[in-house]
Amino acid sequence: MQKKGFEMDEREIDKIVDQIMTQIMFASNSDLKGLGTIRVEASGRHIHLSKEDAITLFGTKELTKSRELSQFGQFLYEEKVMLIGPKGILKDVAILGPCRGKTQVEISITDARILGVTPVIKDSGDLDGASDVIVSSGGNAIKAKSAAIIARRHLHMSPDDSAHYGLNNGDLTSVRVYGLRRLVFEEVLVRVNEHYSLSLHIDYDEANAVGLLSTSRGEIVK
Ligand SMILES: [Zn+2]
Repeated sequence: MQKKGFEMDEREIDKIVDQIMTQIMFASNSDLKGLGTIRVEASGRHIHLSKEDAITLFGTKELTKSRELSQFGQFLYEEKVMLIGPKGILKDVAILGPCRGKTQVEISITDARILGVTPVIKDSGDLDGASDVIVSSGGNAIKAKSAAIIARRHLHMSPDDSAHYGLNNGDLTSVRVYGLRRLVFEEVLVRVNEHYSLSLHIDYDEANAVGLLSTSRGEIVK
């Protein structure tokens, strides 16, 4: 009984610390207003499933759409998967739609260390040399071969943005991001498509490195 009481106190303390941290974050948010114009989005670990792997894991019933994402035609499903590597597991991993030709798992370098797989930095869609990982859901599992990558940081833009910034699809550029610890991300891959809106995509390791806040924006550095 004694121990249980202590654990509850710890939870209370965690809650208070959370509230205080949120207040501090909001206070520093206002200092960043007007710095940079490019939206910055942190992508958490996620998976794009092939149709075949989706059926193996979830059966023939369509997965449930949860919400649309910022880039046209991309959405999040309500269902989750677990990733299993030689050294560890990652639970509740998001599934992004629509389905792709081949299953692709996007994780951070920290995630790769947890799973015990080699971190391979690749452009999305290029799975040459990617790591194998087991994907499971509710007792079903697949071995996703050459599937797990650390997605290269990239900047989505429309053809108008491309003309405005003088950057072309496939170019590398640098983007300064204003967070708790501002920094310049180099070798950012430019991806131009008429369906894209201007947005820098980084992973959680990169977001934490810069101390990304909800009001954080970026600017191209030349
Ligand atoms: Zn992206």
